[in-house]
Amino acid sequence: PSPRSSVIIIGAGVSGLSAAKVLAENGIGDLLILEASDRIGGRIRKEKFGDVSVELGAGWIAGVGGKESNPVWEIAAKLGLRTCLSDYSNARYNIYDRSGKIFPSGIAADLYKKAVDSAIQKLKGLESNCVEDATNRTDFTLTPKTPIELAIDFILHDFEMAEVEPISTYVDFGEREFLVADERGYEYLLFKMAEEFLFTSEGKILDNRLKLKKVVRELQHSRNGVTVRTEDGCVYEADYVILSASIGVLQSDLISFRPPLPRWKTEAIEKCDVMVYTKIFLKFPYKFWPCGPGKEFFIYAHERRGYYTFWQHMENAYPGSNILVVTLTNNESKRVESQSDEETLKEAMVVLRDMFGSDIPDATDILVPRWWNNRFQRCSYSNYPMISNNQVINDIKAPVGRIFFTGEHTSERFNGYVHGGHLAGIDTSKAVLEEMRKDERQNDKQNQNF
Ligand code: FAD
Repeated sequence: PSPRSSVIIIGAGVSGLSAAKVLAENGIGDLLILEASDRIGGRIRKEKFGDVSVELGAGWIAGVGGKESNPVWEIAAKLGLRTCLSDYSNARYNIYDRSGKIFPSGIAADLYKKAVDSAIQKLKGLESNCVEDATNRTDFTLTPKTPIELAIDFILHDFEMAEVEPISTYVDFGEREFLVADERGYEYLLFKMAEEFLFTSEGKILDNRLKLKKVVRELQHSRNGVTVRTEDGCVYEADYVILSASIGVLQSDLISFRPPLPRWKTEAIEKCDVMVYTKIFLKFPYKFWPCGPGKEFFIYAHERRGYYTFWQHMENAYPGSNILVVTLTNNESKRVESQSDEETLKEAMVVLRDMFGSDIPDATDILVPRWWNNRFQRCSYSNYPMISNNQVINDIKAPVGRIFFTGEHTSERFNGYVHGGHLAGIDTSKAVLEEMRKDERQNDKQNQNF
């Protein structure tokens, strides 16, 4: 017979590990974690680049210094994770045109304000259309056309929406953001979390309740339990399953369900947009960009929206590392993922030479993460449409029989963030524990009746 566990957790990212930790703390000793890749961490991932650790996935602890304490910030502080304050709101004052001139800050500030006002109007229009189903009221909003307008539109919509609509992360936890700059990586948090309930030795997890390289392909479920089949032909049984695969994976055909998921579930999963967000790292022999206060971020204004727009230097995080990071999103991310890194490097160098002149040195190394083409991710994070009712997220989160769903995309208030994944994992495991208690009560009753 196949091994049977009380709960199988699929995925060892922050949500899966948080869920497992809560279950273990509540006496569920026979849990099993199946992870498709060869490591824990999921979308929290460091990699050596040059002499330092860079974060390919989550880089910031967002939402610090407010009325409530961000739980991820608390864990990071307890572990002494090295971080540095990082404020990208200054980016709008360092916008370069293609001839290397910086747009005067007055013009940039003015255009930024107009873009925010326009986005607010658009949001209001959408809200009233939603409620009244009236004719389109959004035609008075601005459509960005010039390179600087497009650059500002990109900063506002792909990074900073906080000025347009309140984002729970900043409202609840505060407006500050800290960049993780620790050689052990953001993922150190997860190793320490795992260490609390899995057996480790010399910094390695040696516990057979965590199985790596186990790609789950099928979940067969009934009122008695769930049968989990993996790509390598293994079969595992459980009373309950917690599935933490990303929204991108749920939209793909990696995992099939028998019987299939109900329509309300698949429709909700389709309604959530996926955001692809790619940080490309470039290493140089020396620094040629401005540093100092307010200069950590700079922007390139090009006639194509999102074309190598958003730049950051790593001098605050790792002085002397001579590393630049450029962030691409969605279509630009997908485009770059599908070409060679040499082509990407060439494109980035043309952009940098536009901004800083032809005599800057070539990058000596490049690192291009591929979140979209990773079949265990298929996205960077969930992105619910601006006007979406809570029903969509509630349906995405709702269990189907004995299969429970978790992950950042199931966090109503903090989707898209590490703390969203962490809190979702805790929430889902509590819901499973509640079901297990109900089962127990029912079994007791049945036994009494006999
Ligand atoms: P994941 O980390 O994706 O964990 C799910 C796990 O399931 C993965 O390990 C995956 O391998 C595994 N899996 C998938 N399919 C299967 C299968 N079939 N069988 C078995 N295992 C499977 N958040 C912030 O707070 N701050 C930031 O600055 C930030 N920046 C980001 C930048 C990038 C580039 C990316 C990609 C993400 C960023 N995020 C950021 C978001 C944050 O990383 C995620 O919200 C969070 O890590 C998601 O955790 P999770 O547990 O929900 O999912």
